Amino acid sequence: MKFPLPEPIHAALPIVRRLREHHFEAVFVGGCVRDTVLGLPIKDVDIATSARPEQVLELFDRCIPTGLQHGTITVLLDKTGYEVTTFRLESAYEKHRRPESIQYINSLEEDLLRRDFTINAMALNEEGVLLDPFGGINDLSASVLRCVGDADARFQEDALRMLRAVRFIGTYRLSPVLGTWRALVRYKRLMNFIAMERVQAELDKMLAGKSPQRALHTAAASGLLLHLREPLPAEVTDAVAAAYRNNRNNRNNDTGCLIARLDRLNGTDCRWAAVAIALKLSEHALMQTMKALKLSNTRIKQISDIAAIARDFEIAAALDEAERRKWWIRTVIRYGKQTTTVWLDIMRLAYDTDESKRNGQVDELVRWHEQIPLTSVKQLKVNGSDLKRYFNRKPGPWVSEVLAELLLLAAAGQIENEKQILLLKAAEWDKEGAEHES
Ligand code: ATP
Ligand code: MG
Repeated sequence: MKFPLPEPIHAALPIVRRLREHHFEAVFVGGCVRDTVLGLPIKDVDIATSARPEQVLELFDRCIPTGLQHGTITVLLDKTGYEVTTFRLESAYEKHRRPESIQYINSLEEDLLRRDFTINAMALNEEGVLLDPFGGINDLSASVLRCVGDADARFQEDALRMLRAVRFIGTYRLSPVLGTWRALVRYKRLMNFIAMERVQAELDKMLAGKSPQRALHTAAASGLLLHLREPLPAEVTDAVAAAYRNNRNNRNNDTGCLIARLDRLNGTDCRWAAVAIALKLSEHALMQTMKALKLSNTRIKQISDIAAIARDFEIAAALDEAERRKWWIRTVIRYGKQTTTVWLDIMRLAYDTDESKRNGQVDELVRWHEQIPLTSVKQLKVNGSDLKRYFNRKPGPWVSEVLAELLLLAAAGQIENEKQILLLKAAEWDKEGAEHES
C-alpha cells in the first residue's frame, strides 16, 4: 500500500535520502506513520535506520546526540529536529520500565517487533510504501488496539505501555482486543514502577486528545489510576469510578454531561479544571492530586483558581442578583479576566442544555463580564503617588486600600475611571473617616 507523504514527513526526506545514498536502510516510523495512515495531522517525525549512531553523526552537520546510549541522534534540518534511531533489540527490562541493554541490528522487521502496538509498528519508506509486518493497518481500519506479540510479556517489560494503551484507545477511539485488555487489567499493579512525571505526560495527552472523555473512562475502567506510585486521594479515585458508572447508566446529570463534552473545551488545563469541577473535588483532594502528578506551580495555580471559582459559585448562586454581581466583580478582580473567561466557558458547557436557573445565571455573569471596564489597579487613572500627593500624606497600607476600593467601584461601573472623579471619591471617604473618628 502506498501513501502520499504529508508535508512534515516530506520535509524530512533529505535525511532518509542521504542515509540511503550511503547504503543504509532508513524509514519513517512510529506516530507519524500511524497518523499518515489515519489522515491526521503529524506531530513529530521519527526515522529508524540501520546506520549506527556514530555513522549518523558523520553524515549530518547539525546533530545533537540526544539519546546516544539507546541509539538516538537528533538531526537538525532547517529549524526542525528529527530523531534518528538505529534499529535495535532490547534485552531484559529493568524495573518494568527500561531495557537493561540494547543491541544494534540490521533488520527493520526486528526493530518493529520491539514496538508496543501494531498501529505503532508500521514504517513508511521514502516512496510512501507502507511496511506493515504485524497488520497495523488492518487493526486501524477495524479500530482495534493490539500489542505486538504477547500482551502479557509486553506490559510486564514496560508498564508505561499500559498507560499508552489507554491513551491510544481514547485518542483514536479504539477498542482493545481481548488479550491486550486482559493483560492490561492483569498487570495494572505494575503502574507503581512508572515515574509520576510520565503519568502526568500521558494524562495530559489523553486530556488534550480528540476524545478525552473516552480516555478518562478507559483509565477508570482499567483501574490503572488505583495503582500509581504516588496514590491519588480516595476521594478522587472514587469520584472517577462513580462518574464512569454514571456515564454508563445515564448522562443526564451535571457531572456526566460535563465529562461527556470535555472535547468541546479548549486547552488541556481548562479540561483538567472541568474534570475537577465535574467530579466536585474538594480543594484538598485536587491539590493533592496535582502535586502527586507533579504539575508545575503555574498549572496548579491556574487549575485550582478555576475550581475555586466554581466552588464559590455554589454559594453565590443562592444570593440575590445585586449581591451576586458584587461577588462576580470581586471574583474577576481577584482571579483576572483570563481565568474567569475559562471558568465561564466551562459553566456554559455544563449548563447550556438545561433550562435551569443556573443557566440563566451563567448568561447573566457573561453579560456582566463583558461590561466590566477594568480589572486591575494598574488600569485605574490614579496611582499611589497621585494619592500621596493629593492627600499630602506618607505612604502606607492606606494607599493600596483606597486603590482597591476605587477599583471595585470603577469595575462595577459605579464611578467613571477619570482621575478627578476618583480623587474626589477618595476625598469623600477621607472626610467620612475623619468625621467618624471625631
Ligand atoms: P505520540 O508522538 O503521538 O505521543 P508516538 O507513538 O509517536 O505517539 P513516541 O513516544 O513518539 O509515541 O514514540 C515513537 C514510537 O516509538 C512509537 O510509535 C512506538 O513505535 C515506539 N515506542 C514508544 N514508546 C514505546 C514503549 N514504551 N514501548 C515500545 N515501543 C514504544
Ligand atoms: Mg511521536
